[in-house]
Amino acid sequence: MTETLTPLAAIRARIDLAARAAGRDPASVRLVAVSKTQPVEAIARVWDGGHRIYGENRVQEAAGRWSDRRTAGEPFELRLIGPLQTNKVREAVALFDAIDTLDREKLAAALAETIQKTGRSPEILVQVNTGEEPQKAGVLPADADAFLKLARERYDLPVSGLMCIPPEGEPAGPHFALLAKIAARNGLTQLSMGMSGDFESAIRFGATMVRVGSALFGERSY
Ligand SMILES: *Cc1c(COP(=O)(O)O)cnc(C)c1O
Repeated sequence: MTETLTPLAAIRARIDLAARAAGRDPASVRLVAVSKTQPVEAIARVWDGGHRIYGENRVQEAAGRWSDRRTAGEPFELRLIGPLQTNKVREAVALFDAIDTLDREKLAAALAETIQKTGRSPEILVQVNTGEEPQKAGVLPADADAFLKLARERYDLPVSGLMCIPPEGEPAGPHFALLAKIAARNGLTQLSMGMSGDFESAIRFGATMVRVGSALFGERSY
C-alpha cells in the first residue's frame, strides 16, 4: 500500500531533499506557509498538521484571519510579505512577528518610531527588486548597501536579511544568487526567496525561508 502524504508533509519532504542535495541542514530552511486568500478550512488543515509559520500580504486581511489565534495565545509566527503603507505600521507591528518588505526610508522611519513607542520589535527584512521591475516594490540592487546602512545605523532597525520576488517568466536562479550576494556582503544571514514554483532552486542558492502558498493550500481564489 502506498501512503499519501499530506500537502504539508510533501512540501516538507521536498525542502528536506533540496537542502540535503545542496549539502545544507534541512533545519536551516524555514517554510513560510502563505495563507493569503485561502479559506479557513485549508488553513485549518495545515495548522492541524502542526505548522506554525505563516505569511500574509495584507495587514487588514491578516488581522481578520489571525487576530483570534493571537488572542487565544498559542504561539505562532506571522510574517508580512506584502507592501506596507506607513498608515498601517502601527497595526502591522502589533500583529506581525516579522516585516519582510522594508523598502523605503519613510517606512524605516515609521517602523523605528512605532518600535520605540510600543516596545514591540518585529524581525525586519529588506525587500530587493532584483529584476528592477518598475511596478514591483523593493530597493534597487545598486541602492541596497546604502539603504541597509541607513536602516541599521540611522534608524537602528534590527534588519536580519533580505527578500525578493523574481520577475515572472524568467529563470529565478540569477535573482536568488544576486540576493545572496548582497546579503553576504552586508553580513545578513536571512534570505526569504523561492515560492511554489521555484523553492527548491532557492534552497540551492541559500534560502533560509521559502514562501509557499498554492503548492501547500491549493490554488488561490480571488
Ligand atoms: C502569494 C505570494 C507567495 C506564494 O506564492 P505561491 O506561488 O502560491 O507559492 C510568495 N511570496 C509572496 C510575496 C506572495 O505574495
